[in-house]
Parts: sequence; C-alpha cells; structure tokens
Amino acid sequence: MKIIDLHCDVLNKLSLQDDMCFLNDSRLDSNFERLKAGKIKVQVFAIFIHPNVPIEQRFDQALLQIEVFKKLVLTTPGIVHITNWQQVQVLQEDEIGAVLSLEGCDCIGKDLKKLEVLVNEGVKLVGLTWNYENDVAYGTLEDPNKGLKPFGKEVIQYLNGRDVILDVAHLNEQGFYELLPLAKRVIASHCNARTLCNNARNLSDEQVKLIVEKGGRIHVVFYPPFIDNEQETATVSQLVEHINHLVNLVGIEHIGFGSDFDGMDFKVDSLTNAAQYQNLIKELLKNYSHEEIKVMSHGGFENYILSF
Ligand SMILES: [Zn+2]
Repeated sequence: MKIIDLHCDVLNKLSLQDDMCFLNDSRLDSNFERLKAGKIKVQVFAIFIHPNVPIEQRFDQALLQIEVFKKLVLTTPGIVHITNWQQVQVLQEDEIGAVLSLEGCDCIGKDLKKLEVLVNEGVKLVGLTWNYENDVAYGTLEDPNKGLKPFGKEVIQYLNGRDVILDVAHLNEQGFYELLPLAKRVIASHCNARTLCNNARNLSDEQVKLIVEKGGRIHVVFYPPFIDNEQETATVSQLVEHINHLVNLVGIEHIGFGSDFDGMDFKVDSLTNAAQYQNLIKELLKNYSHEEIKVMSHGGFENYILSF
C-alpha cells in the first residue's frame, strides 16, 4: 500500500551530523532505503529548528537544512522534488516525491522576505509555530488563550497568495480559531485526537470538524505520548484507535498519516521507522477494506491536492 506521510524530521538530523548519509544510515528512521521498504510515495521533509538555536542563527539554519535537502536528499536517484502538487499525479511507480515544509516561523522573525525565500525554495506547508511563542503566534506549550499576532495575519495572507497550506499541528487554541477563517487551506500534519489522549498537541473533536468543514485534513502522528498520555510506548492498535475515532467523526477521506519519524525519542512498537509502515496497514486491515485504507494512506490526500 502506497503511503503519503506529511511529517518527518530527517533534515534536522542531517544538518546536525556531517557524517550522516540519507541513503541507508541506520540513525535515520526515514532514510531512503526505509522509505522504499515502507512503500512511501510522498514524504514531507520539515525544516525544524530547535529552540536552543540562537534567534539570530535560525534563518541560516533553515537555509542549511534546504542545502542538505538539495545535496543529500534530492540527489538520490528515485527522489523527485515536488514543487507543484500536480507532480504527485505523475510520479512513476519507483519514484518518491519529496516535499519541503516549515515547522514554525521562528526563523523568519518579522521578515516576510525571509518567508518568501523559503517558499521560493519549494516550501509547500507552513506551521506558524512550533511549541513556543514567536513573532507570528503562540505554540501549544504557551497560554491557549493568546491569539495571532498582527504579523501572523500578514503571514497567513502571504501564504494564501502563494497557495501554501497552513499547518496547525503546533498552534495554540486561540491561534487556531483565529487562523481558521483567514487561511485558504488548513491541515494538521501530525496530530491525534484529544478525546482519546488529552494533550495540547492533539485536536479536540470540534477542531477536527472545523478543519474538515474548511476542506482540510488531519494526519495522525506516531508519537506514543500523543497516543496514550504520558506513556513512552504505545501499540499500533492504540494508534488505530485514534484513526477510528477521527474516521467516525469526519470520514475516512479526510484522515491520513504524518509519522514524525526522526523527531521522536519514543516509538510505537513495531512502527519504529519508515520501513515498518506496512505494519500499520496490516493492523488497519482488521477494521477497514483495502479500498478504504487506500483512501487513508494516499488517495484522500491526492484528491485533496487535485482540488487546488
Ligand atoms: Zn512537530
């Protein structure tokens, strides 16, 4: 079963270790061989800059991760850079589409020109925040009642004009509710259901419904603490409970995957790297038909981007 995965943190790891090789380095959950083995059709590669990087160095870090993406990921035979979503439709059987995203606008400060540089390099999804406050908005570990900053509204308007998807995965609640009417396209790239696991990184049923009413999507994350609160381990069947809940709420065509491989210190049993993706498919086959899983694993997202 082909997979479209909306979130991994390979670029951060590659940018921190000079000796890492994208092809088959065992320290990478989503190295090329593992993406192949897991039948990944499209992988979104996040630009993520850790908050311990000084503010004045963050934009250079973002550029470094784009350099790494070009030099180490895009040079791999079989990897195709997706700069226009329509390219996903013409990927060959043995090709993997690689997409850039930005996980938090911390690196642009208050400078739209910096955002423009990143979008011109092919960034197709942008989250306003990671977990903390920046010049745009407040993240999930901040006060949930604080809304978007004035510059945040400019950022949304700019991204709407460039047809970039707004990713609400790490945005706090008030920011979420203010973004929704302003954003043209909204996705939660790696979030689970708060009803099953009460964590600020997960979405309430109301938020899930509002995203879908806007034509958006929710992609589940494989991080155990977001599956079963405070737990360092989780089973694939517990992850599927989140999928079941979301499917019951809004329908299978709006649900997909955003593993967060290479960004996790804890893993789901038997879903520890991209090569094991088909273990999730096997578990889903207990509850869903082949056709239904196809919609969830890639078909739903393909229909979504076709509507652009
Ligand atoms: Zn994240």
